[in-house]
Amino acid sequence: MEVLSQNGAKPGLAVIIVEGDSASRIYVNNKKKACAEVGINSEEYALPSDVSEDELLKLIDTLNKRDDIDGILVQLPLPRHIDEEKIIMAIDPKKDVDAFHPVNTGKIMIGNFDFLPCTPAGVMELIHESGIQVQGKDAVVIGRSNIVGKPMAMLLLHESATVTVCHSKTQDLKQKVKNADIVVAAVGRANFVTADMVKDGAVVIDVGINRTEEGLRGDVDFDAVSEVAGAITPVPGGVGPMTIAMLMRNTVTSFKLRDIR
Ligand code: NDP
Repeated sequence: MEVLSQNGAKPGLAVIIVEGDSASRIYVNNKKKACAEVGINSEEYALPSDVSEDELLKLIDTLNKRDDIDGILVQLPLPRHIDEEKIIMAIDPKKDVDAFHPVNTGKIMIGNFDFLPCTPAGVMELIHESGIQVQGKDAVVIGRSNIVGKPMAMLLLHESATVTVCHSKTQDLKQKVKNADIVVAAVGRANFVTADMVKDGAVVIDVGINRTEEGLRGDVDFDAVSEVAGAITPVPGGVGPMTIAMLMRNTVTSFKLRDIR
């Protein structure tokens, strides 16, 4: 086992949740559980849904200044009366373990980064661990959000895939997906990717988490697409746990980079 600190200090992660979103509560509980399992000190700040932007900013400022806090995570989405961008900008980039701050997204763009956003990093980890070659492959990312689609496309590009990013205004999306060797679905619509859209042997990675009457579903019609795909991730159980693992990794990275205890 790696010794992180000679004096026994542990990495510290502060998780801020503004109550109100039931999915967010589940994600935060899972993150806290993972911290306990790997030996990261986690602190939860559960704020009422009417918390003011100023109060949230003050809390972030306090956590930015604390030596024992290496990572600050604000669970998104936030209520409408709070400006998400302003909140993300307030987090010290060195403690931005979600890698949403423009300093970190900029570093990702130039390929010289300390942290990667957890979900795209988790997808790349799955690809690497499965021995899948990325270089020279045609990859399609469906979705262009700042937290999943865009950084995902960038990571695939860094590894020399030829990347197409699809979104709600994309023409002939089906054809574009059909040409892809690697498909990453981050749409937020259950069963969006169907078997007829997928090339034989393609790698299909399902980021989507959709709560349906039948339970949790991804963006991919798993049963049908798994008949065609060469490799596929399930929901639940695929990208979700990897996202949490990458958060743990980023928190340890921050602890090491800050190197102050
Ligand atoms: P967003 O809603 O921010 O983005 C969705 C994207 O999908 C947008 O770019 C949108 O296009 C695109 N889209 C929507 N409808 C269509 C359509 N009919 N055709 C083509 N593109 C479409 O979602 P996120 O990126 O935050 O999340 C995506 C999914 O991943 C969600 O299900 C979310 O729950 C899940 N998720 C899972 C995580 C995990 O750990 N597994 C972590 C984060 C998210 P446009 O930009 O044009 O509107």
